[in-house]
Amino acid sequence: MDKERFRQHAHELVDWIADYLESVEDYPVRSQIQPGEVEDRLPAFPPQDGEAFSAIFEEFKSVVMPGITHWQHPKFFAYFPGNSSPPSVLAEMLTAALGTNAMLWQTSPAATEMEIRMVDWLRQACGLDEGFSGSIQTTASEASLSALLMAREKCSDYRINASGFQGEPVLRIYVSAEAHSSIEKDAKIAGYGADNVVKVPANDDFAMDADALESLIAEDEARGYKPACVIATLGATGTGGIDPLRRIGEICRAKDIFLHVDAAWAGSALILPEWQWMSDGSELADSFVFNPHKWLLTNFDCSIHYVRNKQALIRTFSILPEYLKGATTAEVTDFRDWGVPLGRRFRALKLWFVLRSYGIKGLQDILRRHIELGKKAHDALAADPEFEITSPLKLSLFTFRHTPYGMADLDAHNERLIRALNDSGEAYFTQTRVHGKYVIRWQVGQVDCEPHHIDEALNLIKLTAARINA
Ligand SMILES: *Cc1c(COP(=O)(O)O)cnc(C)c1O
Repeated sequence: MDKERFRQHAHELVDWIADYLESVEDYPVRSQIQPGEVEDRLPAFPPQDGEAFSAIFEEFKSVVMPGITHWQHPKFFAYFPGNSSPPSVLAEMLTAALGTNAMLWQTSPAATEMEIRMVDWLRQACGLDEGFSGSIQTTASEASLSALLMAREKCSDYRINASGFQGEPVLRIYVSAEAHSSIEKDAKIAGYGADNVVKVPANDDFAMDADALESLIAEDEARGYKPACVIATLGATGTGGIDPLRRIGEICRAKDIFLHVDAAWAGSALILPEWQWMSDGSELADSFVFNPHKWLLTNFDCSIHYVRNKQALIRTFSILPEYLKGATTAEVTDFRDWGVPLGRRFRALKLWFVLRSYGIKGLQDILRRHIELGKKAHDALAADPEFEITSPLKLSLFTFRHTPYGMADLDAHNERLIRALNDSGEAYFTQTRVHGKYVIRWQVGQVDCEPHHIDEALNLIKLTAARINA
């Protein structure tokens, strides 16, 4: 594609994108296709000859678009939000055009220096202390892996990095029973083994029971195991549970155990002063992750990983072959030493665009609106005797189920309900289990969600529930 054609097609695409964002509500929220439909429409063999852009773009519309789930639809209430925003999209265009790699300072000084500044802007906005320095990682899963690797090396004085696990005691990790599954995956990758992830019971409010944590650590020590890492969750994925960070931090401090905080979703709400109580005790944490790519209007991928001791992080990851030495290696930050990948996208640019376009105040207004709308949805279902709130509102997330009089199998009934809701294309919800019950999660977080979207979703839920019960 020559540069003149590129200019023409880029203009066409920008128009298409603006139209899409304006009309996203016309699409079914969750893709309505069956497994294999897109694959069947893609040729089994790669083309030998180049094709015209117009042909590719036509098939994008006819083949790809039906297989898209519209995360930017205001009635996307599933999982957690995966926000985008116009300034973030614009920045991503520039990032793609520059096609730069932010692995070393000298491979694009602006990318590194802006990353240093943006993670510090966010640190201040979230009310976290100056002792944290950070980087942008791909995902919370990856940042938590870095934390587990740091904890492993802290325990073994970097022996495991050098010569593996032989001769080391069994290392243990502690998380709330409500914690995200990524921790277990990371524990497998980091060599701890999934069996060494100890699930600490959660209390009635879905938060880690700190007394139970203390006893489990003591039991493990008595068995000769080495407690390596505690992971506190702020905003658990199923129910939004918020672990008592200060209590957990004090336990870790007393035993010199590495403390990582997983605030992947709820961390964005720390820009709201009225929610900063959640991170009380964060000065006791060694590592902290949250995802602006969830709730802070910044396109995936953008996960912020803060660490208290950056030398320990760098020592965990650093490798310096001759071909990666830069002229300035000793004086500058080379972010390749801050995590697993070598190559890194220029992700700070979209944060810069977002933070400057909205300002902290603008972002605060949007998150407060989402929390209000979550409350509106919660209160409406709480007031209806046919529905049960199965976990309380945390920020903008709660869970519920339909409990019509005389229904024997509520799990199967609510499974039918959520399937019917999502098949309608009108709104999209996902499920979880609370105390063994099958329940529906409702989180509000899409940027353009307004009160009428909540009213429409409530109507849909009530009508659909009545219909499948009839
Ligand atoms: C979403 C989520 C994760 C995983 O985030 P990724 O960035 O997709 O890896 C981890 N922990 C919690 C609490 C989450 O909500």
